[in-house]
Amino acid sequence: MQRYVLDNGLVLWAHKGSFRRSHVILCTKAGYARDPPGKLGLAHLIEHLTIPEHLETIESLGCSVDGSTYRDYQTYECTLPVRSLPRFLEILRSHVTFSDHPDSHIEKERNALMLEGGKKLDCPSDRCEDLLNSMLEGVGSSQDELRGVKRVTRTDIQDFKSRYCVANNMVLVVVGKTDVTVVRDLAERVFGDLCTGSVPAISQLSMAGYGNKTEFVPSGLAYVAGGKYSISPEHPEFVPLECAVRTFHSIDLWTSRMFRELRLAHGLVYTPTANLEVQSAESSLLSWQVSCFPQNVGRVQSLIHGQLEDLASKGPSAAEWYRVRKAMLAELQNDICEADEYANYLLSHELHRHPLPTEYARLIRKVTQRKIRDAAGKHLVGGYHTVCVLPEQKIARPFSHCAQE
Ligand SMILES: [Zn+2]
Repeated sequence: MQRYVLDNGLVLWAHKGSFRRSHVILCTKAGYARDPPGKLGLAHLIEHLTIPEHLETIESLGCSVDGSTYRDYQTYECTLPVRSLPRFLEILRSHVTFSDHPDSHIEKERNALMLEGGKKLDCPSDRCEDLLNSMLEGVGSSQDELRGVKRVTRTDIQDFKSRYCVANNMVLVVVGKTDVTVVRDLAERVFGDLCTGSVPAISQLSMAGYGNKTEFVPSGLAYVAGGKYSISPEHPEFVPLECAVRTFHSIDLWTSRMFRELRLAHGLVYTPTANLEVQSAESSLLSWQVSCFPQNVGRVQSLIHGQLEDLASKGPSAAEWYRVRKAMLAELQNDICEADEYANYLLSHELHRHPLPTEYARLIRKVTQRKIRDAAGKHLVGGYHTVCVLPEQKIARPFSHCAQE
């Protein structure tokens, strides 16, 4: 793989491998943390406006584009046949910089966004996650976005684009069966004349909520807990902590007889998930989630805390750690063969200094049960958790998501 910086400041990562198709990610380093005050949702609306307009053209190339908006950046990504690469990059470039959308298009996407937000508010697990994220990330929630996006004007869109959609604020990742020098020349031809701007430094994720514990009326359907860690991927504890989260996720809480009984008797409705996510180069977010009926919130909470305390005092057993390590290494092995996964590793490395697959595998091999125990003890137990339990009465159709189970 090779990292280039074009004369205008655009960062390009190119990697050649024996992939069947290519994968492209264009990242602009402006997410919802850059939304102007009272206009939360602007970046998200821009993501919507950027993608669908010429979708047909893109689909005729045999690919479809995915857009995502995060706190600090946006991505547009696509898996496509190698031969479509030049044409696709041209389309991508014109879409990302275009800002003269007709009013009807803006209205259409604004409505799509309102619908998306409304659905989120009505799903207890989404709503809990949303609440948690807005607390941990220090930005507004979906409700604020619903209000904010109504106020977004055409000028806001143009200002945002001219300020942030500039070469030195972009990262392009291309993974496929194409020589890196060919990719570099292509990027130079398509993106080389993109202008440069002065982009203010990105505000770091505030750690103000660290150490807080927030509880809502314990009568809801979903339970989400999470924490924010000022721990970067470069920190020696990061990989053991990630291993601890994976171990936690795989240990018997989720498969034990007690859990099955709880599920049968009291209707725990979701398979719990645990996630450690690198949020910026300086901090990470951790969350786990269980949906349950109101009367079980206390039991679920103590189940989770009990398991975490176990992990922190004893660490995983040799058999558990063997199983988790094997799974993690197999997953990495698989990721190396998939163009889209590989491209995302490269982007994560550029944005968050997350280790590249080979380095990451080496680090996982070095992790011991004791390191996992210590990382869990230091970060996963204690008084820093943020807990969200939604009050039941605030959900319009509290049981609608159970029906999907
Ligand atoms: Zn959306």
